[in-house]
Amino acid sequence: MQKAILIIVDGVGYDTMLSQCGYLEASVEAGMAHRWKMQACLPSLSGPLYETLHTGLTPLEHGILSNEAMRASSVPNIFQLLHEQGRVTAAVAHSFFFELYCGRTYNMLEDIEIDDESMAIQHGRYYSMEAYSRANPVQPADIDLCAQANNLVRKFSPDYMLIHMCAGDTLGHLYTSDSAEYRKQAWHTDNALARIMPKWLQQGYQVFVTSDHGMNTDGHHGGNEDLTRDVAFYYFGQQKNLPAADEVLDQCRAAPSILQATGMDPSVFPLPGIFS
Ligand SMILES: [Zn+2]
Repeated sequence: MQKAILIIVDGVGYDTMLSQCGYLEASVEAGMAHRWKMQACLPSLSGPLYETLHTGLTPLEHGILSNEAMRASSVPNIFQLLHEQGRVTAAVAHSFFFELYCGRTYNMLEDIEIDDESMAIQHGRYYSMEAYSRANPVQPADIDLCAQANNLVRKFSPDYMLIHMCAGDTLGHLYTSDSAEYRKQAWHTDNALARIMPKWLQQGYQVFVTSDHGMNTDGHHGGNEDLTRDVAFYYFGQQKNLPAADEVLDQCRAAPSILQATGMDPSVFPLPGIFS
């Protein structure tokens, strides 16, 4: 059975990803991975684009337009579609994902670790980042998130797993995209992925790596700038007949690509995936 993992590197733009992520780029150079530029939808904000990455719809179409107006997803999404087919889903992610796909408000004291077959995300490990500030960035370490995800793979062998890493976005806001702190964090992400991804690839997982949006030199995102809209989209897997390397992909093509990688029909989504 075909299985896929999506890694969302929150807030890390295209140029930073390509210049700092040596493992990911080595894999492209060696022909083990494919990488495109992807244009994020607008507004270039996390919550709206988490939903875009899972529904193949623009924020205007799925209706989640602000981080301050999060609610449960009301349209077909990857977690729900797989769950309905009896497939196993998992996530290591910010609590926004719980609110989007688990149908109720996140309870910080009870929902941090959930194993519930009735939920669209059956096995979830969440973090809140409560009280994050310049004094205390409270970023979960990427390697810790990878370790949690690896435990989920060992225990539940999910057909689809999301890993969402937030430290790039946090340091981008605190130090801007033109900073040693932001660039070094992108490398930390790559360094964590270098230790875990080869194992998952060997186990037969197809792995996608992308960002929801980038970051500008004000330490902000949300609007229509190349720095905030251009992200990388990596595919690690054996499937052929992919788009040309220089094609700029619409972000709405991520969801159908991921669904197709799990062996499901992606035509529920408006745009085609990358597998023709
Ligand atoms: Zn942000």
